[in-house]
Amino acid sequence: MTKPDAVIVGAGIAGLSCAVRLAEAGLAVSVFEASEVPGGRARSWSDPVMGDSVDIGPHILLNKYANMCALLERLGTADQVLWQTEELLTVFDRGRSMHFKVGGLPAPLHFVRNLPRILPSVPLHHLLSNTRLAWQTLRSTGPELMKLDAITGREHLRRCGVSDFFIDWFWAAAAMAVLAVPVERCSAASLMRLLGQALGHNDIAFGMPKVGLSDLYAWPAIEFIRRHGGDVRLGSGVTGFLRGQGRVTGIRLGDGTEVEAPAVVLAVPPTAIAPLLPADHALARTARLFQPSPYISCYLWFDRPITDARFWARPWCPEGYNTDFYNLSNIRPATRGGALIASNIIWSGRVEALSDEAIIEATRREITDFAPQAQHAQLLSASVHRIPMAIPAAFPGTETARPQTAVEQGLWLAGDWVDTALPYCMESATRAGALAAEGVLAERGLYRRLALPPPRPGGLGRWLRSGQEGEDF
Ligand SMILES: Cc1cc2nc3c(=O)[nH]c(=O)nc-3n(C[C@H](O)[C@H](O)[C@H](O)COP(=O)(O)OP(=O)(O)OC[C@H]3O[C@@H](n4cnc5c(N)ncnc54)[C@H](O)[C@@H]3O)c2cc1C
Repeated sequence: MTKPDAVIVGAGIAGLSCAVRLAEAGLAVSVFEASEVPGGRARSWSDPVMGDSVDIGPHILLNKYANMCALLERLGTADQVLWQTEELLTVFDRGRSMHFKVGGLPAPLHFVRNLPRILPSVPLHHLLSNTRLAWQTLRSTGPELMKLDAITGREHLRRCGVSDFFIDWFWAAAAMAVLAVPVERCSAASLMRLLGQALGHNDIAFGMPKVGLSDLYAWPAIEFIRRHGGDVRLGSGVTGFLRGQGRVTGIRLGDGTEVEAPAVVLAVPPTAIAPLLPADHALARTARLFQPSPYISCYLWFDRPITDARFWARPWCPEGYNTDFYNLSNIRPATRGGALIASNIIWSGRVEALSDEAIIEATRREITDFAPQAQHAQLLSASVHRIPMAIPAAFPGTETARPQTAVEQGLWLAGDWVDTALPYCMESATRAGALAAEGVLAERGLYRRLALPPPRPGGLGRWLRSGQEGEDF
């Protein structure tokens, strides 16, 4: 192998985002991925029984994912996302479907149009208990919100006067859906940054991939990298780094092969850092702070259509299982007849001991609650994906501990857990990959802006914050 200009460790979305940008800039890149399938925690494969493309677990995009949308444009797959623009979300709560919409009034008043949908479930005084919280968050800058990283979401919500009823009805579900931890265990900083974003945008839309995730970006990225002269090796785990003259000079593979390169980008999750670095390395110490939040994703094939809905959610409660459901038969044209319903059990440690059969039975019950036709349908097949880490758990202290991309001479970091000012998600990973590529190029004297900034909340909040010191969040 000729000596590459840059080695990327990991072919998840962060590593591939970085490699695409570096290859496009003319660098000879080599990507090494431990698994035989690219895409990491956002990958897909063909189900061995039914043959349909299934993801590790269903994923959604936001129209605010500027870096990921730009990557898909570059790869020619941007049209493979189905954007749900007519309504934001259907929430199925105690036998009632609530259809939430955005748009209309300027942010944050866009929420007002949903009041008639919410009030039958939530008495007005509980809703109004959020007033101080919303006002305070609208006025806060990013650095002010980060000061909340020491306390939990529930603690902060209570201090701001939010009623326990509303915390359990709404905030518990929001913390679980986006941060993948219970509201009593999540960082208030992470949670309030979400609120700031939600209050600042009246045009949010969800997008659902029309193809498996690996086909959406991973295989197209590999093709792009190879077309630009790069090299991607699957089934090639990296076991350590080469060092010399006070810098990282390359990597060592599991079979002992050494690959020298002036730049190495480590695009692996925090849980994969420990075997690669000495225990006292600053990055290894930081990585240990990030604990995994596990998921279980379920795929159920029915012999007939059971609902017209594409996507619905259930509010989180400790006794429930799945929170978000995707009718892939109405999203992916290639899915065969009947209905293929995918769903996620977030923070799944509480049901990990159950058998696959018990999980499938509970999931079918929850699907039937929303789509009663499922009761009469025959279950053709089902698969249960147990995922030890979907994202790092957003515990207090983790938001301010998120590392930068520059680690040490010759070594950069990418991944959803890098300090991108975004929650742990595909957009954070894509942005981190672009930031790492900027660092690698800068060291070669090539100064380029590749990473797009996080979405800037607008509306009333921006006006209230104008003139204050500190950035937006
Ligand atoms: C079920 C589920 C649902 C999700 N839902 C959403 C969603 O709706 N929206 C959203 O935006 N995000 C969602 N996420 C999160 C999203 O998938 C992740 O944030 C993102 O994929 C992380 O990408 P990454 O590149 O940082 O890390 P990874 O995807 O973890 O990539 C790291 C890669 O490095 C490889 N690797 C590790 N160690 C080595 C080594 N030593 N040598 C070589 N290779 C190595 C791994 O095999 C992996 O391929 C979800 C995740 C899961 C699992």
